[in-house]
Amino acid sequence: MDQNWNEQLLSFIAASPTAFHACRNLADRLLGEGYTELKEEDAWSLSPGGRYFVRRNGSALIAFRIPSGGVRGFLMMAAHADSPSFKIKEHAAVPTLGMYTRLNVEKYGGMLCASWMDRPLSVAGRAALRTENGIEMRLVNVDRDLLLIPHVAIHMDRSANDGKKFDPNTDMLPLFGDAEAAERFDALIAESLGVKKEDVLATDLFLYPRTPGTVWGAKGEYLSSPRLDDLQCVFCCTEGFLRAEEGESVPVLCVFDNEEVGSGTKQGAGSSFLQDVLARTAESCGAELRRCLARSFLVSADNAHAVHPNHPEYADRNDRPEMNKGIVIKYNANQRYTTDAVSAAAFAELCRRAEVPTQRFTNRADLPGGSTLGNISTAHVSVDSVDIGLAQLAMHSAYETAGSKDTEFLIRAAERFFASAFLRRGDGISLQ
Ligand code: ZN
Repeated sequence: MDQNWNEQLLSFIAASPTAFHACRNLADRLLGEGYTELKEEDAWSLSPGGRYFVRRNGSALIAFRIPSGGVRGFLMMAAHADSPSFKIKEHAAVPTLGMYTRLNVEKYGGMLCASWMDRPLSVAGRAALRTENGIEMRLVNVDRDLLLIPHVAIHMDRSANDGKKFDPNTDMLPLFGDAEAAERFDALIAESLGVKKEDVLATDLFLYPRTPGTVWGAKGEYLSSPRLDDLQCVFCCTEGFLRAEEGESVPVLCVFDNEEVGSGTKQGAGSSFLQDVLARTAESCGAELRRCLARSFLVSADNAHAVHPNHPEYADRNDRPEMNKGIVIKYNANQRYTTDAVSAAAFAELCRRAEVPTQRFTNRADLPGGSTLGNISTAHVSVDSVDIGLAQLAMHSAYETAGSKDTEFLIRAAERFFASAFLRRGDGISLQ
């Protein structure tokens, strides 16, 4: 592969300030590649050789291809399109001290608050518009430096470097303008949409950092950008999905929303979305869903923690993920990660054949760690599953860092995975 994957990844991330935008960009890409969009409210008539995708809520997407031999099993990769941010409340303007206008926000997910300060921010999301045909949803991206959350100067807060507590209701309100700006915010959103203010009925708007992504380091080893968790995995799974040759199974690309708030929405991994799509696909192709699921495999792809250069003590004593050293397979005894001996062996073997290195992540036994999509998805679609990711630093920062070589590793692994044939044989898996 000689393509500049990181350049493409960074432009995908820059064009995807919210899950809505990521989903639209993926849909545009799939349409350009000859895929047909299916609607959940319509009847589906699928045929061998067909390429399809479905969206839910405009912020989650599942794409798949029917092999010429029909539907036998599903090879799925799942990632999430949302990232921690601040959601703007409907009644946004906060006139302040007769001098300023701030915006009223609340946290979406668990971010590193300090990283959101003193950097230019903007606003993106979606709006519900009143039109002649009813209520229409439209994406909005103000796409200019618009807001900033200022720190208190060190001279006024001498303890600022001694472990700062951030109160989201006080410390994290972004500055939008002077006193006159109080009337401007709703008008600005309406102008960005090219509609009248009174026709904007409701919004889902989020802050996003404007700092552009970059490749850096002594040898260009590192890659930094907002939203690497999890748009790096979304991008790699998508590219691998599109490049994969036809195999015996249905390749399924799943991009969910709301992972950062527990996945429990209709468009999250905890919903019926995946199950619905698989059931309808099997039904439309005359296959028996339960037999297909017994021949299926899910890779849950969500970024992992690299060993921190200043704080190696947070990593496990033996499993110490390193950026640029390949795909991280995640283990957790309490099954917050779905990986087990069967799924780890199968996925690591697949990577070995694709000449992609793998490494392991486990939490320190005395640190709880995070959760991800795998165990939530498999509660609905019960198949063999492995949790993986790419090693990164500063997860949930407004500006995260990963390894510049790892993007290609995951694309290669995904390409190989989607074209492979996993088949349960008793307690094991045969892998072709
Ligand atoms: Zn994630």
